[in-house]
Amino acid sequence: MALIVQKYGGSSVADAESIKRVAKRIVDTRRAGHDVVVAVSAMGDTTDELLDLAHQVAPISAPRELDMLLSSGERISMALLAMAIHSMGFEARSFTGSQAGMITDATHGAARIVDVTPIRLREALDEGAIVIVAGFQGFNRDTRDITTLGRGGSDTTAVALAAALEADVCEIYSDVDGIYTADPRVVPQARKLDVVSSEEMLELAANGAKVLYIRAVEYARRHGVMINARSTFSSGQGTFVLSPGMTAPASIARTQESPMEEPIVAGVATDLSQAKITVIGVPDVPGKAAEIFKIVAKSGANVDMIVQNVSAAATGRTDISFTLPKTDASLALRALAAEQVDVGFESLVHDDQIGKLSVVGAGMRTHSGVSATLFEALSTAGVNIEMISTSEIRISVVVRGDDLAGAARVVHTAYGLDGDTEAVVYAGTGR
Ligand code: ADP
Ligand code: ASP
Ligand code: MG
Repeated sequence: MALIVQKYGGSSVADAESIKRVAKRIVDTRRAGHDVVVAVSAMGDTTDELLDLAHQVAPISAPRELDMLLSSGERISMALLAMAIHSMGFEARSFTGSQAGMITDATHGAARIVDVTPIRLREALDEGAIVIVAGFQGFNRDTRDITTLGRGGSDTTAVALAAALEADVCEIYSDVDGIYTADPRVVPQARKLDVVSSEEMLELAANGAKVLYIRAVEYARRHGVMINARSTFSSGQGTFVLSPGMTAPASIARTQESPMEEPIVAGVATDLSQAKITVIGVPDVPGKAAEIFKIVAKSGANVDMIVQNVSAAATGRTDISFTLPKTDASLALRALAAEQVDVGFESLVHDDQIGKLSVVGAGMRTHSGVSATLFEALSTAGVNIEMISTSEIRISVVVRGDDLAGAARVVHTAYGLDGDTEAVVYAGTGR
């Protein structure tokens, strides 16, 4: 008998029928003799719809109230799921994040889990109940307020529960069969991976592969939780995310083609959520970049890539471009505009039509020519590169947003990642 944590995402519980399907899957796991703890997301696109509603009521809402609003989505699905399990003759008990002992810091909208005290969950398990926990939410002890963990945060709830309860595995169910070499909605020839290292998964998640939330992967790596990403809509084994010291289950090892060497590139990630700001005519003297990025940081923006052009000799001025989440752009622009005279730049340009393409693979450390393949593929496809950045196991480029999907497909082919069949996306709107 094992203790299994399962997480069901929004598309898995989008309507009554789907909730019943998930209930059956949970009951099947229980029937097999396992203890089951479930983290559940809000139904379908509920979180986005609640956000839309908030924007209609007020353009900027108080973070505390926004968390009160958004956390309600998961409370609906947890209660409905418990009811569906009851009607199948099994005992199930639902808990909010705070009842489940998800203690977080006080940062509304992006709270970090600082402790998990699952006393009530243990009691319920000991009494033979299936435990359902509302994902994506927690409680801060100082403010005594409800917090949320950031978009996609139910994945973190599941991993944190798995760590606290010392579960055997954390199964994350969504609308695709596992982790693919690219988003199957963008690259239909993407191939499902049987295993992926947590190191590579972190880079993929950080660069747009929302199949797993980055903080969940970080938490799993730090606490030694084995994640198995799989589909609610099929019976495939999914993908195992392995941290150092972990080995894939024997059933996976047998189905692998046992390649002699790890592939150099694990996958391609795409991201349309960033914008680019260019600060034009910055005096090319020491200290200007520091001034600019201090202002941007104070606005709360998370800067990703930065490029500084060569200064024009005649003017002694240069342009500095950087990317950041689209949602951070307006505050950053306002903050920079307010300091224009002090910094002495000429103007600001805001571009929210960019796309970021990243190629990720641990094999890059030891192989040369990986970036040449990327640039060659983009050049053949006539895609212009606007910015480039690299890490030890990743190369990213910024291109026009309209070019992103096409670019991802040619790059995927160029690295020999294409599968023989089309990947299946079972549900969800991709929102
Ligand atoms: P859930 O609502 O269950 O949390 P998400 O929508 O957050 O599910 O994540 C699943 C989606 O992630 C898929 O439908 C797919 O479009 C997207 N995705 C992005 N990159 C990948 C990838 N490399 N492999 C699989 N899915 C990916
Ligand atoms: N419902 C939240 C969201 O849509 C959390 C999650 O589903 O993981 O982001
Ligand atoms: Mg998700």
